Amino acid sequence: MRKKIVAGNWKMNTTVAEGVQLAKNIVEKVKEIPSDVTLVVAPPFTHLVSVANEIKGTDIQLSAQNCANQPKGAFTGEVAAAMLKDAGCAYTILGHSERREYYGETSATLVEKVNLAFASGLKVIFCVGEKLDERNAGKHFEVVGKQIEEVLFTLSEEQMANVVIAYEPVWAIGTGVTATSEQAQEIHAFIRKFVADKFGAKVAENTTILYGGSCKPSNAKELFACKDIDGGLIGGASLKAEDFVAIAKSY
Ligand code: PEP
Repeated sequence: MRKKIVAGNWKMNTTVAEGVQLAKNIVEKVKEIPSDVTLVVAPPFTHLVSVANEIKGTDIQLSAQNCANQPKGAFTGEVAAAMLKDAGCAYTILGHSERREYYGETSATLVEKVNLAFASGLKVIFCVGEKLDERNAGKHFEVVGKQIEEVLFTLSEEQMANVVIAYEPVWAIGTGVTATSEQAQEIHAFIRKFVADKFGAKVAENTTILYGGSCKPSNAKELFACKDIDGGLIGGASLKAEDFVAIAKSY
């Protein structure tokens, strides 16, 4: 059975004190969520160790939002996957559309990052998603397929066990516009079939595919009811413990 995951991407928000308080508030409420749903929190790098301390002893997992494409050394400003593991991370998000768009992240770089994450014992939440003009041109399957093919299809079947795919249409991220459950289910089913065609039905059945893009307590239930949606990657709504937990309770 694949895992159900609700992951909070805090992006570049909160001070350390605010982040610690947010983690405390989530820990207080974690008992309210179904036992088969895993919560993941992805604070900024500077908060990781403090947040790791707050969630210690709970089932909440820690994630980074990115990692370097180099293992160590003279790469000023970068943070290596091994350092993230050492700080307490179980996951790192990779390929978020904001990184692709504002930091020129390419599939070639992502292949390096994914492999370094695995080498350090991290699992990867790999983000894919089309832009509005691509959706309007009916190119969303092609775009998402290419993003998956160029990075995930370089991996082995065994490595795929450590990948969570997050489908995040760029037009829905932080805009308040959510994909309809039909739109989301349609592309999630496409992704699962695409993975099945490459790695086989068993790998595809075991791959967790999250929806991301203006997911909130009011729409999570309908999205999570879809057959191929295994949870959410949550941005804005993950900054309030009440909303984040309410989303996870939508199962
Ligand atoms: C995200 O950026 O991963 C995201 C899903 O953001 P939001 O929920 O704010 O749309």
